[in-house]
Amino acid sequence: MASNSKSDLTALFALQTQDKQLDQLQQKIDHIPTAIEAIRATLATAKLQLDELHQRFLKVQANKKEKEIEMADKEADIKKHEKELNQIKSNNAYKALMSEIAKAKDAVSVCEDGILNLMEDIDALGEEEKKIKQSLKDLEADCGKKILDLEEQKKGLERDFAAQSEVRRGKTAEIPEEVLQHYENLRKRKHGVAIVAVSGGSCGGCGMTLPQQIIIDVIRAERIVQCESCQRILYKADSHHASPASQNNA
Ligand SMILES: [Zn+2]
Repeated sequence: MASNSKSDLTALFALQTQDKQLDQLQQKIDHIPTAIEAIRATLATAKLQLDELHQRFLKVQANKKEKEIEMADKEADIKKHEKELNQIKSNNAYKALMSEIAKAKDAVSVCEDGILNLMEDIDALGEEEKKIKQSLKDLEADCGKKILDLEEQKKGLERDFAAQSEVRRGKTAEIPEEVLQHYENLRKRKHGVAIVAVSGGSCGGCGMTLPQQIIIDVIRAERIVQCESCQRILYKADSHHASPASQNNA
């Protein structure tokens, strides 16, 4: 790489700090649609529960209707048999018909019990449905508000991103094009960290102990020096600013 001044490296280091900030903003922006999807999924699940409950309600109502029809049939049978009793001549036939009537009366009684139970179920399900409908209404309002908030947040983050991108452009102005290109390629390959500080004689990226000559070259900053192990650009901050100690205190 061509000769370089200390100020290029200082600018590059500052640029990377700016890029990290932009990356964080981008991550937050990217996360928002996922968060909105999760809220919509919660709402969809709640709606499905209400739907299922309503289906159960309809089914119990249909069962009750069936029982009522069955009971009406049995009652009609009883009436019919009671009329027939008047025309019966033989004792056996009379007994048989009385037994038919008794059976039909038992069946009516069973139907009545069944209908009463189903009516209780209908009441309970109706109450439950009312409650779930109300909580769904609350949930819908809550989710709607959360989604609006997230959409607002996203707009704010996008504005920040645009503003910080402007700041970034300013920071790149002083850096030679080929140095910038080198930095950007390296940053892509090295998970966003292209330039690292030399710290206690080691590479701040991979931690490898650096040969003395490399450290001297880094301090001289006449050319871009890269770590032999991780290939990152090495940088030694002036002791009065941007040292690891002062960064920790920040
Ligand atoms: Zn390294």
